[in-house]
Amino acid sequence: MTQKELGYVELEWTCPVCKTRNPGTQGTCSGCGAAQPEDAVFETPVQADLSEDKEKVARAKGGPDIHCAFCGARNSSTAEVCKQCGADLTQGKARASGGVVGAFTPNTGAKVRCASCGMENPAAAQQCVRCGAPLGKDVVAPSAAAPQPVPVSGGRMGMMLFAIVALLIVAGAIWFLTSLFRSSDTIASVVGARWERSIAIMGPVPVRANSWRDEAPAGAAQLSCRPEVRYTSDSPQPGAREVCGTPYTLDTGTGMGRVVQDCKYEVFDDYCSYMTTQWGVVDTVVSRGVGLTPQWPGATLASGQELGQRTERYVCVVEVDGKQYDFPLDTVDAYAQCEPGSQWSISINGLGSVVKARRVE
Ligand SMILES: [Zn+2]
Ligand SMILES: [Zn+2]
Ligand SMILES: [Zn+2]
Repeated sequence: MTQKELGYVELEWTCPVCKTRNPGTQGTCSGCGAAQPEDAVFETPVQADLSEDKEKVARAKGGPDIHCAFCGARNSSTAEVCKQCGADLTQGKARASGGVVGAFTPNTGAKVRCASCGMENPAAAQQCVRCGAPLGKDVVAPSAAAPQPVPVSGGRMGMMLFAIVALLIVAGAIWFLTSLFRSSDTIASVVGARWERSIAIMGPVPVRANSWRDEAPAGAAQLSCRPEVRYTSDSPQPGAREVCGTPYTLDTGTGMGRVVQDCKYEVFDDYCSYMTTQWGVVDTVVSRGVGLTPQWPGATLASGQELGQRTERYVCVVEVDGKQYDFPLDTVDAYAQCEPGSQWSISINGLGSVVKARRVE
């Protein structure tokens, strides 16, 4: 993170005697005249613009104020002797500084309500313009949006429809499950057999790939690039996009706040898309037929190609009571059993699928 300085803003302190808010650099209360206590806590104003007072800004930049060791009076960091008692200030105690006072809120013209008379005063005011009472930080919020009306549901009709649909879904599921698990055993005879064998042909396949420009292969085809964030840096970089957080105020120990924001830097680079090749399935050759002598398909390989995965599917077709059913067989040895006219014991479930098959003769 890089801390960027936006400027300086006058802080405030609240008089412990009369509760009046006073400008941070002011030594005595404008409400009752009491001196700013040594342990006064500086706060951020409700809303304020950056200070254009060169003298106050210079004092804030000079370092924290020094409290006289003898009389406690607050002196600027550049003073050598106390303005009140003339004592040597080298014995004095510098005010604490560097702490975060709070978020910096630029002046947008918000109003602060007077707790005594209800008058709305400018945010920068410290006393009510009408009654003179000290002002708190009761910022007048813009009127809240009207509550959204709650949509009225379809009522009884909608409920009925919903219940009927739910009932139908449940009934359908029950029918499906009972059909799936209900099965009947019967003897069927083989009327056919069919097979399918395929071989994948492997080779370089063109694919679109993405990478940063410097990671793309040299001479990549159809290269197209667009700038994207490659990394985020804590310090400024040439061509980087600056991304900054909410401004906040640091205590300078002078009644002025130093307004800063933390920034990071997004560094862009060309992210590219291009064509390259990847090892994959170029083609699949398939051979199909009926009967018990399955064949592997022939394949002609181009240079750089290889035969890949082989797959085989075998299906036995049986007939019972004039209806045909088929079922798969996993291996070529099992398929060899699917001889025409052979008898098989099969189980058929409620959906008409063969769930079990065993040759009996
Ligand atoms: Zn006061
Ligand atoms: Zn003094
Ligand atoms: Zn008032």
